[in-house]
Amino acid sequence: MGSKPEQPIDPYLPQNGNRGYRVSRYELELQYKVVVNRLTGKALITAVTTEQRTRFALDLAQTLQVSKVLVNGRRAKYAHQRGKLTITPPQPIPAGGAIAVAIGYGGTPQPIRGQFGEVGWEELAEGSMVANQPNGAASWFPCDDHPSSKASYQITITTDSPFYALANGNLVRKQVKASQTTWVYEQAVPMPSYLATVQIGRYERRRVKGEPVPMFVVAPPRLRAKFDHDFGRQAQMMTTFQKMFGPYPFAEYTVVVTDDELEIPIEAQGISIFGANHCDGRRTSERLVAHELAHQWFGNSLTIRTWRDIWLHEGFACYAEWLWSESSGGPTADQLARAARQNLARQRQDILIGDPGPDLMFDDRLYKRGALTLHALRAQLGDAKFYALLYEWTARYRYGSVTSDDFMLLAGRFSPLPLNPLWDAWLYTKKLPELPASAVR
Ligand SMILES: [Zn+2]
Repeated sequence: MGSKPEQPIDPYLPQNGNRGYRVSRYELELQYKVVVNRLTGKALITAVTTEQRTRFALDLAQTLQVSKVLVNGRRAKYAHQRGKLTITPPQPIPAGGAIAVAIGYGGTPQPIRGQFGEVGWEELAEGSMVANQPNGAASWFPCDDHPSSKASYQITITTDSPFYALANGNLVRKQVKASQTTWVYEQAVPMPSYLATVQIGRYERRRVKGEPVPMFVVAPPRLRAKFDHDFGRQAQMMTTFQKMFGPYPFAEYTVVVTDDELEIPIEAQGISIFGANHCDGRRTSERLVAHELAHQWFGNSLTIRTWRDIWLHEGFACYAEWLWSESSGGPTADQLARAARQNLARQRQDILIGDPGPDLMFDDRLYKRGALTLHALRAQLGDAKFYALLYEWTARYRYGSVTSDDFMLLAGRFSPLPLNPLWDAWLYTKKLPELPASAVR
């Protein structure tokens, strides 16, 4: 009997994610040689099986070579083809059984190239950075690479001593041994693989102004003055967002600025990564500072179950830019919304925000129209109910997985009138709707 192809976890990324188990924890022990871009890793993955099966798979790029696989302490057979590491446990494991999978691997990590550009582990001029979204995690560790698969992490990095190494969570141990330093980070809060990160560079770490959430910057010393100016209002931003969105979901917030230029900044859990070009000393990128910070609530604490609902991340983060502008003395959200709508009206109206397809899920029109959807909702609910909804949204689904249906159902409880016409017009129709005539304040 041939094995029938499995139903993909997510039709947007049919190659990613796996069936048959749920990961509860990753423990990654990484050694990285900066000069030669060489990564050696040991991954210990703890999971529970959801059904009995003879084989199960993890996502792992072919640029990395597997040297050994143990399942519950015993050697297991494996095959590594087309980005899947398929493991045959020495004896079948019944449904609901605990498995501990230890994988030794190594190689020269390269970003994964595809329709989303280059994502994953990337070498910098001096150091490395990781920006996984959406499917780059497998470029540096074996994983169940899907946003609905959230787990705790311990990430240990050993690298050359002059370099600073950062990963998600709290630094629980740092050990300097001759020319090598080992950094151990613990992330107890559930995290999807695409938000796991490692940042290595000639960085200094400084605490920056901001209470009650501890905030840090990890950046080259040469950018100190420019950073202090450009990110100078981040503490105020944090206060504003906590009022609007509820408590900041994580223990700390760290901004990394790489010495290299980056095309766009990117969020990771508890961390945002910017390029040196986003630090020009003129606050040119403050909109993006707000955008990335807002992702800590929308994306990193509340994570979409499937990529189709990406507007729940990007629409919210884009709307947070406008809310920040409004609350900090810039143009109001209503002014920005009307300008954005006008701009969208001049572009092709061939995108469904509620189901954009993999090719358009990071399209700027999705970001803007996602934000406009929230603006239209705010106009309909009024400010008091709108913000009560956002608060309830982030509280109820804190650290969880979410869908558009979850949001629409919850929003319905804050509206005396049915919201279906609004969702249909903004999310599920290609033609761009009009904004409500009266200005939102
Ligand atoms: Zn974003």
